[in-house]
Amino acid sequence: MSAPQPPQATADVPTLLVKIFGKDRPGITAGLFDTLAAFSVDVVDLEQVVTRGRIVLCALVTEPAAGLEGELRSTVHSWADSLKLQAEIISGVGDNRPRGEGRSHVTVLGHPLTAESTAAIAARITATGGNIDRIFRLAKYPVTAVEFAVSGTPTESLRTALAPEAAALGVDVAVVSAGLHRRAQRLVVMDVDSTLIQDEVIELFAAHAGCEEQVAEVTNAAMRGELDFEQSLHARVALLEGLDVSVVEKVRAEVRLTPGARTLVRTLKRLGYQVGVVSGGFTQVTDDLMERLGLDFAHANTLEIVDGKLTGKVTGDIVDRAGKARLLRRFAAEAGVPLAQTVAIGDGANDLDMLNAAGLGVAFNAKPVVREAAHTAVNFPFLDTVLYLLGVTREEVEAADARDA
Ligand SMILES: [Mg+2]
Repeated sequence: MSAPQPPQATADVPTLLVKIFGKDRPGITAGLFDTLAAFSVDVVDLEQVVTRGRIVLCALVTEPAAGLEGELRSTVHSWADSLKLQAEIISGVGDNRPRGEGRSHVTVLGHPLTAESTAAIAARITATGGNIDRIFRLAKYPVTAVEFAVSGTPTESLRTALAPEAAALGVDVAVVSAGLHRRAQRLVVMDVDSTLIQDEVIELFAAHAGCEEQVAEVTNAAMRGELDFEQSLHARVALLEGLDVSVVEKVRAEVRLTPGARTLVRTLKRLGYQVGVVSGGFTQVTDDLMERLGLDFAHANTLEIVDGKLTGKVTGDIVDRAGKARLLRRFAAEAGVPLAQTVAIGDGANDLDMLNAAGLGVAFNAKPVVREAAHTAVNFPFLDTVLYLLGVTREEVEAADARDA
């Protein structure tokens, strides 16, 4: 037997593209290749999709021995006719052209995903010089998610071109570079308030202290840029002075996880990811979340408690905007994951450094300023949609859940 030839060996070889279309049923692939086997052809390429019960099966095979092509054609057609399938056979040369340099995955999330948005995204990909090589659906629930495999243009240019288009269309688009690293073990680090959970923990404490309005005033002043994060944290925590420690338990019970949070963490853990949280909130809550969700890392500020009462102070270093990025780096080092293979998720301005330091920064239902500065944005209130940005399909998530049920 001769050694296998390198891929270019098929470049100039005559090939036949056999396309089968029709109602899907078991045995079509076996039937087609049974038919082709009689002509001793080799398989060069093979792709199949089923959409709403209709199969499209494309087989690229080498040309049969001289004089047999006519017979191959008529045999395939009569086999297809017998199953009420349509067959098309096109003569040609070689295989696909090699995919261009610069390969990316473009994930588009829509609810609904309109034809108009799909047209605009595809047109923009083409305008950047990119070619769409493959498309497939990742999920139909809770949003419609499709992934385009694109080549021929740098990931960064694609990202820059698609971000404004996505914002204008009201769909979410994530662009990540293709390659083995996408499947390498990663680390996901999340913000807590309004990201992993629906609440702002300081507001839950403030409600028990009867100082919600004052806390909101400080928050607004910080948003107007009159206070930095650290000043606003101290000012708000000071309002909690004298609160009984029993409130901590109450607040833990009040915390509402974001829809999809459990699914996201559970699925990431199954995939071998490490998952952490960093919060400008409090360890009194993040430690509990870490235990409930089985997180690998958690870091936050700690409310000082003396003699069963909150003192209105926090202890230790403050987790602020720069601190969150530092913690991402620390967690990555501890997890043994290169920074380029980390994912950060957050909603606030103090998450921006962390989002930009990560390999993929996801602005989650974030304010416009955060959304525009991040690599990608998810604007649907389901945390598990982040899985689709990583190429995980809904079907895989559900199959894993069913298996472990
Ligand atoms: Mg937040």
